[in-house]
Amino acid sequence: MTIGFTPHHVSEALAGACFAADYRSARARFLAAAACAGARVDVFVDDGACAPGGGSLTTDVAVAGPADATAALLVVSGTHGPEGFVGSAAQVALLDALAAGVAMPRVRIVLVHAINPYGFAHLTRTTENNVDLNRNFIDWSAGAPANPAYAEVHAALCPSVWTPEALAAADAARLAWVERNGHDAFVDMTSRGQYSHPDGLHYGGRGPEWSNRTLEAIVRRHLSAVERIALIDWHTALGERGEPFFLCFNEPGGPGWERACNWWGRERVETRGGFGGAARPRYTGLLFHGVQRYAAQADLTGAVIEFGTVSNDDARRALQADRYLRFGDGAATDALRAALREQVLEVFAPQSLAWKRSTLGHAIAIQHAALAGLATWR
Ligand SMILES: [Zn+2]
Repeated sequence: MTIGFTPHHVSEALAGACFAADYRSARARFLAAAACAGARVDVFVDDGACAPGGGSLTTDVAVAGPADATAALLVVSGTHGPEGFVGSAAQVALLDALAAGVAMPRVRIVLVHAINPYGFAHLTRTTENNVDLNRNFIDWSAGAPANPAYAEVHAALCPSVWTPEALAAADAARLAWVERNGHDAFVDMTSRGQYSHPDGLHYGGRGPEWSNRTLEAIVRRHLSAVERIALIDWHTALGERGEPFFLCFNEPGGPGWERACNWWGRERVETRGGFGGAARPRYTGLLFHGVQRYAAQADLTGAVIEFGTVSNDDARRALQADRYLRFGDGAATDALRAALREQVLEVFAPQSLAWKRSTLGHAIAIQHAALAGLATWR
């Protein structure tokens, strides 16, 4: 039995220093912290998209630690846009620890800030092409996997009219599908990714997104010589509010899985929660799979680590609102649009100080547990 980690104590001041209010200030904090830490910085400009109100969008990378290290910690934020606020805060905290001279094992540290800068800046979960980036890392040469059941519920999942009547009708159609096919099938079909409906939920795209190609460039540039990689991809929404929820994508029971259990605690890694009791979806095209492919020479142990925010039903409504704001009937008033955007933000980046302190405390401890694990991984 492993007990995993103890959350770091995070003061109000530390939370305020690490959490930013928008993409632009998050980026500024990250770059300032990287400079203080003496990290090397790479900047990748997303030439296919603009910031709100104009201006460029970038994925920024901070690299620290010895160049000849054989092990690396790779930490990614912003795969799902506004879910990146807590990931950004965790990265800033790690850079601040480096700047403060906290002892680190002899590993390379690669921090990828805002891998989906469009989503982060526009407070939307998907990329500029409505792609769920965490379904985009399939092997495109093999073609996209089929998910024919998605077509049956696309309309119910994606209401294009935002009235109480329309939402109730969509919910009824969804529940009827669940009644016929079961909860496990519903969670699997909706979550694992679909490649047929560009205006739908969990759309995996038509080819590698800019963010995908950028991650490939980052991994090949900074991780092509290492033998062992620990990956943390920070997310939000699933799990108990303010608590971490682990989705380890190593094979259950295999050496990578066992390593994750040793680093972070078996009972955390092997929990079945987070999907309302359903089995875990058969995800395709995860960022984890991308890193596996782009650093094929290395052993990879890694996880999506979520921080819980709201119930699964409320999170689904926020996904629908996010999608409605982009593809809906256009009838929404400015006030409704602002309210829906606020709802999306609150589900994926809660403004509560208590939530920020709790999640950052866990995140700091989780990062340090991975670093400690890398130090002894042979
Ligand atoms: Zn996510």
